[in-house]
Amino acid sequence: MTSAVLPLPGFLQKLYLRFAPRHRVGQDPLAGTAQARFKPVPIHNLKLPTPVARQLLARRHIAPLTLEEGKRLTVLVPFRGREAHLAQLRPALESHLQAQGIDYKLLVIEQQGTGTFNKARLLNAGMLHSAADSDYYCIHDVDNIPVNADYRCPSQPLRLVTKLLSTHRQETEYLDHYFSGAVTLRKEHAFAANGLSNHYWGWGKEDDDFFFRLLMQGFCCHADQEGTYHDLANPQAQHFSKATKKRTSPQLEANRHRRNSLLRLQLDPAKDGLNSLTYSILARETEGRFEKILVDIGSQGR
Ligand code: UDP
Ligand code: MN
Repeated sequence: MTSAVLPLPGFLQKLYLRFAPRHRVGQDPLAGTAQARFKPVPIHNLKLPTPVARQLLARRHIAPLTLEEGKRLTVLVPFRGREAHLAQLRPALESHLQAQGIDYKLLVIEQQGTGTFNKARLLNAGMLHSAADSDYYCIHDVDNIPVNADYRCPSQPLRLVTKLLSTHRQETEYLDHYFSGAVTLRKEHAFAANGLSNHYWGWGKEDDDFFFRLLMQGFCCHADQEGTYHDLANPQAQHFSKATKKRTSPQLEANRHRRNSLLRLQLDPAKDGLNSLTYSILARETEGRFEKILVDIGSQGR
């Protein structure tokens, strides 16, 4: 999409997008037109360079969200060291999926070793591993337990989480561009975006990057306004308080920088994602519709 953003020669446009202040554009034209339950995720508050935001708003696929039955779902759970969470998620999720008559598989993708976690690479590995027998995916955090969720196949990428109940922190209601927790999307949409970026290590921003990749393809990401989940507390050793997230770490700064570069159209998703991941499966266990793979996804710097 880079070429058509501004009526400027390529190098001037690059320069402009690099230094342009990020603007808020006016109200999202889709904000008022949506159905009550499934609303487009607003993007007017994304703080993009104005020409980028305008073009994204203009090219978004506009049609009411529909949900299809009879498609094959693979739920992808990125995982390491959260056995207690998985033990809670699995029965709750499977009973939800069975009650809704979904033809599902549950795929847990476990990162091998003790190196820095890379959620995006695990999800990419899961998408590739299950592509042949999936029509759509659900990207699912292990610590989000469904309370009210519709897992049918959405016509456009759909965030299932809006209300996040919790016993350990204040209840959250996501009204902004958050696009994580549990997200369903068609396989062809995931592949059109080339999956997720492989270069986000540790906590944060890979989900913003993926959201933006989908927007760049012209998809209209939606959110289920009634979607409700229960958030489990992270294990103490992996605990991120809000304050910790905000405190600058080199890791998080690097992720933020990469995300901002993508928002300024300086990175090409076609060069980094599903088509550039190398991974290997070290162990595999299956039990009915459940499968767990232990994967080597490489380590930071490679
Ligand atoms: N995760 C994991 N082990 C880790 C870190 C992350 O299994 O050490 C997975 C897990 O599925 C988790 C998701 O990545 O739900 C998101 O990470 P985290 O819960 O730390 O982020 P939060 O959602 O709490 O900000
Ligand atoms: Mn969590």
